[in-house]
Amino acid sequence: MKRMLKIVASFSETVRMDMGLSKCAVMHVRRGKLVEGDEMQVQDSISIRRMGLDETYKYLGVQQGLEINLFESKATFKGKFFGRLKKVLASKLNSRSMFTAINTWAVPCIAYSFGVVRWSTTELQSMDTRVRVLLTKYGIHHPHASVSRLYVPRKEGGRGLQSLEIIHNKVVKDLREYFQTKNSPLFKIICQEDENITALNLADRRTLTEATTIGTLTERWHGMTLHGRYPEALKNNNVNKEQSLKYITAGYLYPETEGRLVAIQDQVVPTRAYIKNITKRYLPSDRCRKCSRGLETIQHVTSSCSILAPIEYTDRHNAMAKVYHQAIAIRTGLILTSRKPYEYMPKAVMENEEYRLYWDTLMETDRPVAHNRPDIVIFDKVKKEANIIDVTVPADDNISRAYTEKLTKYEDLAFELKEIYNLRKVYITPLIITTIGLVETHLGENTALLGLDQDIISTSQKEVVLWTTRIVRKFLVND
Ligand SMILES: [Zn+2]
Repeated sequence: MKRMLKIVASFSETVRMDMGLSKCAVMHVRRGKLVEGDEMQVQDSISIRRMGLDETYKYLGVQQGLEINLFESKATFKGKFFGRLKKVLASKLNSRSMFTAINTWAVPCIAYSFGVVRWSTTELQSMDTRVRVLLTKYGIHHPHASVSRLYVPRKEGGRGLQSLEIIHNKVVKDLREYFQTKNSPLFKIICQEDENITALNLADRRTLTEATTIGTLTERWHGMTLHGRYPEALKNNNVNKEQSLKYITAGYLYPETEGRLVAIQDQVVPTRAYIKNITKRYLPSDRCRKCSRGLETIQHVTSSCSILAPIEYTDRHNAMAKVYHQAIAIRTGLILTSRKPYEYMPKAVMENEEYRLYWDTLMETDRPVAHNRPDIVIFDKVKKEANIIDVTVPADDNISRAYTEKLTKYEDLAFELKEIYNLRKVYITPLIITTIGLVETHLGENTALLGLDQDIISTSQKEVVLWTTRIVRKFLVND
């Protein structure tokens, strides 16, 4: 090595380059022990300094001496990882960006050491726990919400956080495979000799089984009594799963808002019924604090409280209906510029040469009709057609029957309108998103039939889920 160094030094000199001496050091080892020694003279003008006994050098980000200084290395990796994590958590990123930043900016600081530095399962799990504790501290993860769901990918309804334990086990497994299957004498000897010398323990040829994977976490989440209701609902035939998960795949909510919505979906919001029956704490009553009639469950608060119905539920319903009304008014040329959903106030009637558009208006009929005030009615004067459009934000359990109920509800009105205005055809179009954002399966097709862009499904869902989280939050502060 000394000879090689001399060649490098003289070559460098010839090509007028300097040796990077500041990055070099010499360590003296005798019979496996570090000993004092001198600096190393390579050439007259070039000498490499001696590394002190307690010093370490950094190779690929790992502090090393004669061997890797485990304790210090780990502390450094942890410090950097949690430091970055806290910076991300304190930022004002939206949910998707925040989780992406954690996964791609904070996690690699420590994942980089996997397979090189030895981490025990206990250590990895306790770091994962500490991450969750921090998420809870910043209001992003409800303490009783599903832990498994945090790590499930967003397109499956989870929040897409990386688990250190899972990454670690995968990296170790892949690295071991890389070394053990390589057909080279050097690699073969390395594998044979590595009896617990490196973190990979290559001499052990047993295949590692990963105890925790995304698959097992998904199963665990789906299998829970309360947490499992939401993933179960996503499997319902009347639910469009991909559209229903748009709020979480797009991740546009603030992390705290998303956390609150997830807690509602996971059924862990501290309603009286939850406190009394699930956490088993004493409460004089588990009846609703507003109406005193129903059991105060999360379903009651989000969709069946008689006190919240006239204002809160109506506002939520109108928020979605307005999104559709405005889109229809723009498509039919009745208005020219679009406004934000909360700034948009529909007019009761709007009309031009081709169309007449009603909002929440009583339809005159010759014979009395029970349901004669749909949310939106549009007349196409050229085609001689009308469309009765009705928006519903039902409880999740009611999604299966909501569609057919709406069709039946407006049959009489459709018949009457056809007669009175001598129309060729009258359509009935129910538009349905449930309180926690499940998109009913006809919504995509019906949106297309109305000649509207599919984007407004996501816009409507955003209105609905924001209203639901707002209703629940307001409800809980008034104890
Ligand atoms: Zn109530």
